[in-house]
Amino acid sequence: MGTSGCMHCHGYYPGTFASIGFVQPSKLMMIGNVVRRGCVGLVTGGASAATTRSPGLVAARRRCLRTATSLRAPLSAVLSDGTMNVTPPECLKKPLTVPSKLLMGPGPSNSPLRVHYAMMKPLLGHLHPEFCQIMDEVKEGLRYIFQTKANVVCCVSGTGHAGMETTMCNLLEPGDVILIAQNGIWGERAADMARRHDADVRLLEKAAGEVFSLGELEAGLKTHKPAVLFVVQGESSTGALQPLEGVGALCRKYNALLAVDTVASLGGVPFYMDDWEIDVVYTGTQKVISAPPSLAPIAFGDRAMAKVRARKTPIRSFYADMTWLANYWGCDGLPRKYHHTGPVSSVYALREGLAIVCEEGLESLWKRHRACAEKLWEGLAALGLEMFISDASKRTPTVNTIRVPDGIDWMKVVKYFMSNYLVEISGGLGPSAGKVWRIGLMGYNCTPENVDLVLRIMKEALGNVKGVSSQL
Ligand code: PMP
Repeated sequence: MGTSGCMHCHGYYPGTFASIGFVQPSKLMMIGNVVRRGCVGLVTGGASAATTRSPGLVAARRRCLRTATSLRAPLSAVLSDGTMNVTPPECLKKPLTVPSKLLMGPGPSNSPLRVHYAMMKPLLGHLHPEFCQIMDEVKEGLRYIFQTKANVVCCVSGTGHAGMETTMCNLLEPGDVILIAQNGIWGERAADMARRHDADVRLLEKAAGEVFSLGELEAGLKTHKPAVLFVVQGESSTGALQPLEGVGALCRKYNALLAVDTVASLGGVPFYMDDWEIDVVYTGTQKVISAPPSLAPIAFGDRAMAKVRARKTPIRSFYADMTWLANYWGCDGLPRKYHHTGPVSSVYALREGLAIVCEEGLESLWKRHRACAEKLWEGLAALGLEMFISDASKRTPTVNTIRVPDGIDWMKVVKYFMSNYLVEISGGLGPSAGKVWRIGLMGYNCTPENVDLVLRIMKEALGNVKGVSSQL
């Protein structure tokens, strides 16, 4: 039953398998020749199959030897006649150096050492049972942070944008109406993506920094009768926090699905997927969860999955197909199939980030974000600075937007933070570009000490930075 692969056939063999990673050292030695010759020994049919010198294994080994020999000749010819157009770059001969910065912008935030250590754990194959177990634990953590009992809770391999893209390409078929509550750059991006899927995009627009009332959303639902309503909880380009309570019930009344972007807010403010009747939610790993950017946690409720399963047209992205992702992440009750190679170390990091969230508890996390943000707002007011959003109840504590006063060059202040203290704060984005600074308080970085530090540097920077520049 044993079959070994080589450079040509490296990959996943459907059916039961035991890769060499699971074979005990003594057994590994018995197939060591195959491994030493540069072949990737992937053995199907269980570990014991690897120990048998079956005719199949011998033939496979011969094939590998032939491959190695046939590769050797042309390779040496290429090397000797000087035809290499591109040589190893000088820069890669130096060791990797990375400065240690405090990331107090809108993301990413720093990761605690625990998260970095998690990424140092040994790699596993993307379908090994131990890795599947870790994925299952991540799903449990995500159910907690999303506050949902939904089956389909998993991650798209990619950053927050991948979550947005996955939402659009699964929920929308050509001609479907999507209503986008647009009050910043993330609504604009969502509209752009939805158009690429040939959806009929309708916009409900508000000025930057404003949020939508239930009445405004209901009027939009009534007028446009969309298949999907898209809203952003924490609009990180403006600092606005969209209230979500009651929006799901409205969507049900008008037979629309509700999709919510929580990339910049989840974990920092209350969010209840099930109680608020939200059909799709996605987030990012690099904000409050304080893991590196790389995954977009996402949940599809039953109504959303029913729409996906009832599609008349295929989902236009194989990579972001929720039926495949749900299967790979073990959400559909069927045996997991190879869909793509999950970013194994990033999943470890996410698991550790979620474990830290669970240890603290969401209520405490939400309170900490609120308390630190209030401390920041008070300190900024004492410096004579004004928040971009005057009504504190409409601000997300995770991304704080501060009006740049007349006569101050915002970029000089940003540079002052970085060049003197290796601390990142950021300028505006989209509608707030040139008008605000953005200071992030997220997860690991959201501490009173960091707030004090940022306030001290801001005071110093304002005293040092003179002159206006309109360049962005
Ligand atoms: N949505 C929101 C609200 C965001 O703040 C961001 C990132 N700043 C994104 C989506 C996109 O996430 P990413 O940069 O991780 O792709």
